[in-house]
Parts: sequence; structure tokens; C-alpha cells
Amino acid sequence: MTHSVDPRVGLCGVCIHVRVVENLRGSRYYLCELSRTDDRFVRYPPLPVAECPGFEPETGDVED
Ligand code: SF4
Repeated sequence: MTHSVDPRVGLCGVCIHVRVVENLRGSRYYLCELSRTDDRFVRYPPLPVAECPGFEPETGDVED
């Protein structure tokens, strides 16, 4: 699966540590899984995230 970076979301949109949570009304939340073990990270980072020390890109093509 390939992803392009959504400018409203930033790095979290293409990071292996994110879990996308969608509610019944169709709102999307980007939950940072690193927040479970590392308190440098917040559970729901304020978007867009432009820089992040924990960012690891998903495998596959990433377009800017
Ligand atoms: S590590 Fe950074 S870029 Fe990745 S999901 Fe968490 S906050 Fe977003």
C-alpha cells in the first residue's frame, strides 16, 4: 500500500507508529503508539506533525 503525505496530518500519516482511529461519524484520529512507552510522545499529537524524533516511514513509496 502506498501513501502520500497529507499536509493536514504530516508525518504521522506515513509513520509506522501511528494507529488511525476512526469514529462512527467519520472523524479520524492519529494515535501515536510510541506514547505508550515513551513520554516524549503524546497519545494524540497535534497535527500536522512536521518533525518528530520517533518518525519511521512506512515501507513503500512515500510521496511529498
Ligand atoms: S512517532 Fe511521531 S510521526 Fe510517528 S506517529 Fe508518533 S508522533 Fe507521529
